[in-house]
Amino acid sequence: MNDVLKADLMPNKDGYFGNYGGSFLPPDLQKLIDDITEAYLKLKDDPDFKAELNYLLKYYVGRPSPVYFAKNLSKNIGGANIYLKREDLNHTGAHKINHTLGEALVAKHMCKKKIIAETGAGQHGVALATAAALIGLECDIYMGEVDIEKEYPNVLRMKALGANIIPVKSGLRTLKEAVDEAFMGYLKDPVTQLYAIGSVVGPHPFPMMVRDFQKIVGEEARVQFAELTGKKLPDNLVACVGGGSNSIGLFTAFLDDESVNIYGVEPIGVGNKVGEHAATLTFGKPGMIHGFKCYLLQDEAGQPSPVYSVASGLDYPGVGPQHSYLFDIKRVNYVTASDDEAVDAFFRLSREEGIIPALESSHAVAYAIKLAGKLANSKTILVNLSGRGDKDIEFVIKKYGHKYGI
Ligand SMILES: *Cc1c(COP(=O)(O)O)cnc(C)c1O
Repeated sequence: MNDVLKADLMPNKDGYFGNYGGSFLPPDLQKLIDDITEAYLKLKDDPDFKAELNYLLKYYVGRPSPVYFAKNLSKNIGGANIYLKREDLNHTGAHKINHTLGEALVAKHMCKKKIIAETGAGQHGVALATAAALIGLECDIYMGEVDIEKEYPNVLRMKALGANIIPVKSGLRTLKEAVDEAFMGYLKDPVTQLYAIGSVVGPHPFPMMVRDFQKIVGEEARVQFAELTGKKLPDNLVACVGGGSNSIGLFTAFLDDESVNIYGVEPIGVGNKVGEHAATLTFGKPGMIHGFKCYLLQDEAGQPSPVYSVASGLDYPGVGPQHSYLFDIKRVNYVTASDDEAVDAFFRLSREEGIIPALESSHAVAYAIKLAGKLANSKTILVNLSGRGDKDIEFVIKKYGHKYGI
């Protein structure tokens, strides 16, 4: 296979993965973002920085997270064997802590005082507030008033962790407005603040930097899978795709292994019409959002379309530029799972394995269940279980419990 796929060779120096990525910002801001790129490229190979991050990943986050054989589920399906990379067992309960810790350390080394971000469901906000508390940075989280009400437990967590929550009162008062206002807040003082993006999206260097912080997931899983099964490689990888950080984290270590089939699962929500899903690579076209090029769900004028998924961590109208590239060259198969399939998988994994998955991760489990049924039982599927479902349990039981005897 073309070794253009080798993760360390991508993106090019301007932040492009094929035609996607780059950085489209006003010149003043571009200079400051270039400083982040420069600082990160130095830090990334600095042995002290690496040692500091690895220490925290081991003793604070609890890495390595295990790879677990979902024996009951696999047996009940009667096809391929399903293995789970347990990112749900990390401190704070998801993969996001892998990159927020990295971003907070970069901020510290650049002598920034504050890290800021927007949050929708509050997951990125909680992971960032956690890293800020640990590293000793101030933390401003911009959050729409509608989301504040909907995701109150996460608001309380962020407050307990010492973050400032800045309620966003404009427009629909949800994620998009929160991004706009966080951006304005950043522009007011980009010298002492660092904007910590929550996935492999945004202008260069974020898609590269967040990917680099997440690739530990696949590097660990590769070794652990071989140890556990005695097979060199899994036959299939499956992960859910919102912005694309947990999936690229798993995929990166396997991109050059032609024998491994790779599946990224997008949320098709309640249907295939505009506003019913957030399946960007399935239905989108190349466009621009938040300062970078990628596939985008958009209207005629190129404005982002409304999106929906039962998993709020997956409803973003764009997608990481590296995924956009991997889609074009057909290295990764982008497939879908619906709300109902994800909820079914949520209950199956809970009841057959005693593991309550996040609704986002449930999309990956749902697709793995479908795939396993079509494959021989000598085949294997490695799923990234990106997070735990405690945050979703109240909502799921209220809305769907009656279908599952609750
Ligand atoms: C945020 C989130 C996601 C989606 O984000 P990616 O950048 O696509 O990984 C998936 N799973 C969980 C548990 C999340 O919190």
